[in-house]
Amino acid sequence: MEVARYWRTTGQRYQLVGEVCPNCGNRIFPPRDVCPVCEKEARTPFTFSGKGEVYSYSTIHVAPEGFEKFAPYTVALVRLAEGPLVTAQLTDVDEDEIRIGMPVEMVTRVLREDGERGMLVYGYKFRPARPVSADAPKAAAAPARVTEPATNMSELSLVPQPTA
Ligand SMILES: [Zn+2]
Repeated sequence: MEVARYWRTTGQRYQLVGEVCPNCGNRIFPPRDVCPVCEKEARTPFTFSGKGEVYSYSTIHVAPEGFEKFAPYTVALVRLAEGPLVTAQLTDVDEDEIRIGMPVEMVTRVLREDGERGMLVYGYKFRPARPVSADAPKAAAAPARVTEPATNMSELSLVPQPTA
């Protein structure tokens, strides 16, 4: 398994930042500096909306060694509104509510604290998208919850998957 990706800066912790290709406009996540579509250099940062829908999902009942106590949990392939697919854990949802095409939104969670330096490690999960009235811009998105206990298991959900 790929090494988990962490966000440690305040600027990034509530955002999903990838890149946009200046040549063909393809939106890229995770950032890789080369457009997978046209293979040109792509280093322009692009902030994703964090909105997407469930493309496929799998509920883990038999967790890898060390993570048994967290099972069952559901890992989804989420199609971002801007195109890329990312893998992340679903949260705040019952397993039987999950369906293909379900609108979801990214939430940021504290995954663990680096005790020595007091550094918080953040990462993302997806939860069912809440209906937001287009007429009520003041109804801003709720702040990301940071109450979840830090777990190593959560870090597994942070591994972005390259698109084909
Ligand atoms: Zn391109």
